Amino acid sequence: MNSQEIIAIENKHTSGVYLKQALTIVRGKGALLFDADGAEYLDCSSGHGVANLGHAHPKVTEAIYKQASTLVTLFETFPNDQRAMLMEKITALTPGLDRVFFCSSGTEAVEAALKFARISTGRKNFIAAMRAFHGRTFGSLSATFNKKYREGFEPLLPGVSHVAYNNIEVLEKAVNEETAAVLLEVVQGEGGVYPASLEYIQAARRICDERGALLVVDEIQSGFGRTGKMFAIEHFGVTADLLTCAKSIAGGVPMGAVLIGAKVKNLTPGAHGSTFGGNPLSCAAANAALEVILEEDLPSQAAEKGAYLMGKLKAIQSSNIREVRGLGLMVGIEMKQKVTPYLKALQERRIIALNAGMTVIRLLPPLVISYEQIDHLVEVLSEVLTAEQKDE
Ligand SMILES: *Cc1c(COP(=O)(O)O)cnc(C)c1O
Repeated sequence: MNSQEIIAIENKHTSGVYLKQALTIVRGKGALLFDADGAEYLDCSSGHGVANLGHAHPKVTEAIYKQASTLVTLFETFPNDQRAMLMEKITALTPGLDRVFFCSSGTEAVEAALKFARISTGRKNFIAAMRAFHGRTFGSLSATFNKKYREGFEPLLPGVSHVAYNNIEVLEKAVNEETAAVLLEVVQGEGGVYPASLEYIQAARRICDERGALLVVDEIQSGFGRTGKMFAIEHFGVTADLLTCAKSIAGGVPMGAVLIGAKVKNLTPGAHGSTFGGNPLSCAAANAALEVILEEDLPSQAAEKGAYLMGKLKAIQSSNIREVRGLGLMVGIEMKQKVTPYLKALQERRIIALNAGMTVIRLLPPLVISYEQIDHLVEVLSEVLTAEQKDE
């Protein structure tokens, strides 16, 4: 099928919930993607932060292939070699979090964390942040802030309140003896690429401890090397009670996980579960992905490449740019106008980037992006971002 045929079929049968691009993607290699007609694109989206290892990493491909011909599915009541290995590997990365629950996506990981917080504390309420994004199923949607995601779906979960991000004073007032958990991204992703301040996350930890609430950190986008550490929370010198991850955990194969700390209680058989959770195929892919992340030291690569990229972006002289911010290779460029025309111009120059809200260009390249590719990205960005743009 050529690009025109693929696009026509998808437009005919789509549910309608996605704004479809006029661009097919059928193949990937490292930081590159290819359309059905063979044209090459530099991927600065990683499928919203999934492809941290790049596309079609040979070690992940081999692990998937091998496990697919060994055992694909197994309910978690039966122990399995790949799952056991992954449990050891992933908990070794998160000191203080020795247990893990596996599921198939980010929103499911957040749902599990919310349930675990309630059953553990016997309390009902949650505090989340303004601009937060935690997913689109009812529980996680209740913690998601932006009305664009929520409108038309109310009533949502009662007992969830949103407080200003990076504001210790309001958090101090909001958390009380009825709070089951405080749920935070340490770098807000969808909300516009806002890193938390050191003081804020440390205060959140202290406030939760003082009031007997749990601290849930959502690392679904920031995890697995993206920000220059294995998990972004490591920048802040504290540990969470529950840590959600998904996106890049298994090299692109669907998987989510909740890492669980010692304060979390009452997780007894039947309290929660997932048919696909912890299946051997996803576990094998995750085992391979984690090995690659450690072998290639992708967290350090993200730190160095992120600093290099941010330095170059900050040097771009353009009155269209309001601010460049981020952590590691999680980068936001806040513009003074809507970013849709900029993203379109980038795509015409064969660079795929993301938005985060109306005015922020978000760059989440695979952590294996080369310095040559970063230089190319900066060159194209400086042309596109300095050009006169008309709002659509
Ligand atoms: C993407 C994302 C989610 C939701 O993950 P899905 O796999 O799309 O359900 C939740 N939280 C954060 C921080 C995310 O970036």
